[in-house]
Amino acid sequence: MPMQPPRIGGTRTRKAWEQTRPMPVKRVRGRAGQKARAQVIAEEPLCRICLAQGRTRMTEIVDHIKPLAWGGSDERSNKQGLCVPCHDEKSKAERAIDAEQRRRFDLTR
Ligand SMILES: [Zn+2]
Repeated sequence: MPMQPPRIGGTRTRKAWEQTRPMPVKRVRGRAGQKARAQVIAEEPLCRICLAQGRTRMTEIVDHIKPLAWGGSDERSNKQGLCVPCHDEKSKAERAIDAEQRRRFDLTR
């Protein structure tokens, strides 16, 4: 029989089909929220930013134009359909603005 390497952390081995991490908590979305999201996608099947730049990509995410964290509303007028790359880019820009504002706030104290 071949030599087995020593086991660290007990004798139990993980089965191939077992999760290594706990399952992510499913975000609870109300029926009204689902309906509102479906409405935006139905009205804007193509990413708004891509469309403005002459590209056609499917809407994958319903985005708050003015983020809720910045006081944006949850109304239809503040929502737009975006593809994942555009949403990622927008989120990144928003995080940069947040960081800059925090930095400025720190400087004034
Ligand atoms: Zn896009």
